[in-house]
Parts: sequence; C-alpha cells; structure tokens
Amino acid sequence: ARQGSWGRVRRGVVTTMGADGSYKYVVIGGGNAAGYAAWEFVKQGVGKNEVCIVSREEVAPYERPALSKAFLFKDVRLPGFHTCVGGGGERQQPEWYAEHGIDLMLNTEVAKANLTAGTKTIETKDGKSISAENVILATGASPIFLTKLDGADLNGIFYLRENADALKLAEALKANAGKTVVVVGGGYIGMEVGAAAQLMGLKVKLVFPEEHVMPRLFTPALAQYYEKFYQSKGIELLKNGRLCSAFLPDAENKGVRGILVCKDDTKEEISADMVVVGVGARPNTQLVGDQLEMENGGVKVDGNMQSSVPGVYAVGDIASFGVKQFAGKRTRMEHVEHARQSAAQAVKAAMGKSDAEYDYLPFFYSRVFDLSWVFYGDNVGECVVGGSGAPQIFAVWLEGGKVMGAFAESAADDEVKRLKAAAKGFPKAVDEAKLTQLLADKSTPL
Ligand code: FAD
Ligand code: NDP
Repeated sequence: ARQGSWGRVRRGVVTTMGADGSYKYVVIGGGNAAGYAAWEFVKQGVGKNEVCIVSREEVAPYERPALSKAFLFKDVRLPGFHTCVGGGGERQQPEWYAEHGIDLMLNTEVAKANLTAGTKTIETKDGKSISAENVILATGASPIFLTKLDGADLNGIFYLRENADALKLAEALKANAGKTVVVVGGGYIGMEVGAAAQLMGLKVKLVFPEEHVMPRLFTPALAQYYEKFYQSKGIELLKNGRLCSAFLPDAENKGVRGILVCKDDTKEEISADMVVVGVGARPNTQLVGDQLEMENGGVKVDGNMQSSVPGVYAVGDIASFGVKQFAGKRTRMEHVEHARQSAAQAVKAAMGKSDAEYDYLPFFYSRVFDLSWVFYGDNVGECVVGGSGAPQIFAVWLEGGKVMGAFAESAADDEVKRLKAAAKGFPKAVDEAKLTQLLADKSTPL
C-alpha cells in the first residue's frame, strides 16, 4: 500500500491513509460483513487506496461463527478462519488487504461519525480524522451485558462476541475441565457454548427463562429433540421462568461461585466454577442513531442497503431491511449469510454497479456435537415435524395453505441444496401428497 501522510506498522503490515486522510469508501467495523465487503470491492475492480476499513478489533476480519464452535473444543485459531473462507473466498490475512490497496486500520475505534453532509467525516478514538464520499456501516452487535446484577464484576463471568473474548473463554474452559460451568441463556450462544463446554470435559448447567431452548425458532416438538440430546450428554437444563438475577461471590468476594436464579417468588442458588452469559445481542448503532432513520433497533435501509442519507449504507447485524420474497417484510437478521450478502449488495450499490435489489433468502444454521441443522424461509404458521427419525428431522411451517419455512437436521449436502432450491419459491402452495411423503421420509424434497 502507498504510504500516505501517516502510516503505522501493525504485525508487519503498513496501514496507510490517503495523503489528505480521505477515501472514496470507508467501512466502519471490521467483522464478518467488512471482510466480505473487501472481497466484493476487489471483485468489482476498486482502485488502490480508495477503501479504508476501520476496526476496533486487533485482528483482520474473520468468520465469527467459528468462535463458539471448533475454536473452543478443537483449538482452531486465526489465521485459520479469516474471511472469506466460509463463503468460498480467499483467506484474507492482513497482507491480502495491503496487496489489494485496501487500508486496514486495526485497533482503531470510531468515536464519532458525521454522516449528514455530502462529505462524511469520521473521528477515531485516538484522535484521527478521516473523510469519505461513501460510508458502509458494519459495526455489528454487542452482547447484552448483565451489568446491573449484583456480582456482575466478579472474576469468572464470560461473554462471547469477539476473538479476544473467545481466547479468554477457551482458556477458562480448559482450566475448569472436570468442574462446573453455568451457561446463562437458551439461545444460540447457550446451545453452542454449552455443547462445546461439555466436549471440553465440564459439567454444564444451562439456565434460561423460557419453556424450551431456542424459543424464537424452535417449536416445543423440535426443541424436545435437542433437549433430550443435551440431557443424554449429561447437560442439566434449568428452565421455565428461571431468570439469572445475581452472580454469587466466593468467600474472598473476588470470583464467582454460581448464580442466583429467580423463579416466581422463589430464589435458587446454582453453584458453578465459572459462568458464561449469552442473553442476546444489541446492534451497535450508537454512532448513527440520531442521524439516520432507524427501524427494528437498527438502521433502516432500502433494497441497496442504503440508509436515509445518500452515500451511507448499513450491512449485517445493524441493517433493517425488507425481505423481498416475504412481501417486503421488514426485519434485522443477526446471521452470517446475511452479513456476507448484504455487504456485497452495498458495495455494488456504492460503486454504481448494483443491477438488482437485495433478494435475501433467510437462512439460519447451527452445529452442536455431531448435529447440524439448517432453516430456510420464515417460521410463521403451523409447524409440522416429521422425517425418518433421529438423528434426522424435517419440519415445515405452513400458513394459509402455503409452505413458509423448512428445517432439516442432519441432512446430507445434496438434501440441503434441494431444500434451499425449494425455499427460493417460498411462500409456496402445499402439494399434499409430496408433503406427506416428505414428512415420512426426509430424503424426498419439497
Ligand atoms: P460483526 O461480525 O460483529 O462485526 C462488527 C465489527 O465492528 C466488529 O469487529 C466490531 O469490533 C467492530 N466495531 C463495532 N463498533 C465499532 C466502532 N465504533 N469502531 C470500529 N469498529 C467497530 N451466524 C450464523 O449464521 N451462524 C453461526 O453459526 C453463527 N455463529 C456465531 C457465533 C458467535 C460466537 C457469534 C458472536 C455470532 C455468530 N453468528 C452466527 C452471527 C454472525 O457472526 C453475525 O451475524 C455476523 O458476524 C454479523 O456480521 P457484522 O459484520 O454485521 O458484525
Ligand atoms: P439469543 O437471543 O439467541 O438468546 C438469548 C437467550 O437468553 C434467550 O433465550 C433469552 O430469553 C435468554 N435470557 C435473556 N435474559 C436472561 C436471563 N437474565 N437469565 C437467563 N436467560 C436469559 O442470543 P445469544 O446471546 O444466544 O446470541 C447472541 C448473538 O450471537 C445473536 O445475534 C445470535 O444470532 C448470534 N449467534 C448466532 C449463532 C448461530 O446463528 N448459529 C451462534 C452463536 C451466536 P428471552 O428471549 O426470553 O429474552
């Protein structure tokens, strides 16, 4: 990369700015979406030193899903999972950015962004000022921290979002092998970290307030399958109204010795040697909340991921967008495939190369133990569960005589492909004969 007015050496890579500190495109945030934005910029032939990515993390963009899976129980570490390996692209290490003339400013938090004017200005926490013609907001989300609870500052309480968090968590899990971890939350983090901890030799207690795990996606019947599986691994499920209400201090008042759970009027102490909290995430919109039109807790964007201010785009977890195949139903999605595709859409639009509106097929997945599920579409209406039996399950959501969503556990690659192809047609009129057959034998596609 060209040496600009100032440059810095980070892990052997020079990060530079344009001579006047100005860029055609600045990406704020250096996570999953930013990595895919960089790939798209290169694919579209962006000029050297036209793009700058500003990230508060100390590592180049990576595939965040790895952090709650093989990172923990198989010691998979960076640079192994830099973007865009998960999406079939190159493993973009810092050198890749330098080679392609993309300035990657790591360890740099954006403190202020003035996005209303024609030329946008960005100020970093360490006092640098950058100007940009176009800004792509890719700041993702942060965990909901239970900071207001008694004992929130005790040692031994972990949250998981970034590489640095995962390093600390992995170390603590290893140090506590044979001991007990309480995992607070029955969502994605709870399920995945709970499974990883069990594989690492810890006794796991999963605590959450709902009646069953993954309440926003799973129906009771689907959840039952996973809950039984977890219980067969010795994982204790403490659920039904059990809300973590305090962290309990050890005798020295330094470390955590468990959590206090409230259920109705009763209080229950749950002992543990460490605690992992996964109680949801909030989009990082602090920089822009008072400048852009907001929706669903995020930045409202059009079919080109453009916000209410021309030249300002939002992608990934922070974007609230319309799902074309569901009549423009507006939503935010905190999932990696959307981060990848929305980033590509915004880059094409910013470079004047977008030829169609964002047409995202909603897709969620998770992998725990030897299980692996995928979901396409929308989980509205009645859910019918079938399939050829454990470990294979198949489910479809039906509304008004139409298939809205479909779920498969332990499907082979070609089955997932067929499911994906079918989901592109959702909502889709039900073919009764096919549906009956499919629910009896998952290998029959919709
Ligand atoms: P992020 O990847 O979070 O990137 C945001 C970046 O912006 C971060 O680097 C952050 O530090 C930086 N940033 C924020 N504010 C500033 C600022 N002011 N200045 C500079 N930088 C800033 N999804 C799936 O579909 N499947 C999975 O299996 C899966 N597993 C996951 C596992 C874990 C542990 C986590 C946390 C998430 C997982 N997800 C999964 C969700 C998926 O990773 C996210 O949807 C995706 O990372 C969103 O991409 P993003 O670029 O919008 O945000
Ligand atoms: P989720 O929203 O999936 O789950 C949070 C869970 O914690 C909910 O069940 C919630 O219940 C529960 N909860 C809330 N407060 C308490 C409390 N005080 N005590 C006990 N339980 C509580 O968020 P996660 O934290 O699991 O995930 C964070 C982010 O990471 C999300 O964006 C997610 O999409 C992403 N992620 C995605 C993965 C994937 O796609 N495979 C894997 C890992 C992370 P309630 O709903 O009632 O508030």
